[in-house]
Amino acid sequence: MRIYTHQDCIEHAVPPGHPERPERLIHLLRHLEDIGLTADYPLNTATEINDEMVNNAHQTGYLAQLAAGQPSQGIQALDADTWMGPNSLNAARCAAGAVWQGVTDVLSGNEQRVFCAVRPPGHHAELGTAMGFCLLNSVAIGAINALQLPGVDRVAILDFDVHHGNGTVDLCRGIPEILVCSSFQHPYYPGRLHDVLRPNIVNTPLPAGTAGDDFRRAIARNWWPAIERHAPDLFFLSAGFDGHRDDPLAQLLLDESDFSWITGEIVDRANAYAQGRIVSALEGGYDLEATSRSVATHLEALGK
Ligand SMILES: [Zn+2]
Repeated sequence: MRIYTHQDCIEHAVPPGHPERPERLIHLLRHLEDIGLTADYPLNTATEINDEMVNNAHQTGYLAQLAAGQPSQGIQALDADTWMGPNSLNAARCAAGAVWQGVTDVLSGNEQRVFCAVRPPGHHAELGTAMGFCLLNSVAIGAINALQLPGVDRVAILDFDVHHGNGTVDLCRGIPEILVCSSFQHPYYPGRLHDVLRPNIVNTPLPAGTAGDDFRRAIARNWWPAIERHAPDLFFLSAGFDGHRDDPLAQLLLDESDFSWITGEIVDRANAYAQGRIVSALEGGYDLEATSRSVATHLEALGK
């Protein structure tokens, strides 16, 4: 397993009190060091995704629109939740670049699993719209570009963040080679594209208050048969940990054991269909302690 991160992902600036803050990544990386995980898996520096790969996935002109919105100093709002500072576009490029390095690593056979410890998150970024703390849809960019590589005919994006992956659905709904499975608290933010009905889009809404047993049953009922039908060559994870019961942004009641469970189940399926190849990227998770512990259990299960 290999882990990628970048200093710009820490420096991506948001206003005081914003939940998607630099401390998320600082705390996480410190925790991984404290428990000895980075001794086994040293941190690697991500490199930025190139324009062409972004343009293959997002709407033409979107990258220029983001660049125009980036301030040279201070911070600038793109919407009520989504902000840019001087390092933000580079942070988003590194987040997407980390996913792409992961694709390269697992397809070369050098690694089976890659985790991207990055921010900003990406799964709310739509074809031409930054929203929900997200600028570039890192995982969808990776998945769409991966389909151009030899030996990659079908991929899966599995999104267990507590919020629906509306951006990923937007970028991938017309691409039948990409299976998108998203579980999410419903009704809840963002409240768009969760009702898209396509054979390659599996939406799994969960009511507020859903705990681990019901979460596991819903995933087993909706996701595993879809994965079996799709038989992906490569798995992407939009790994959000804001479904944790301690998370301040949402009301699901998951804990570390549930993240360990879903990761282990996905590892089994990746081993069965995709030579074990999984690229996982951090999405949400806003309680610093719960997120750090949950990522650690995710990595322990991924590393098996
Ligand atoms: Zn989220």
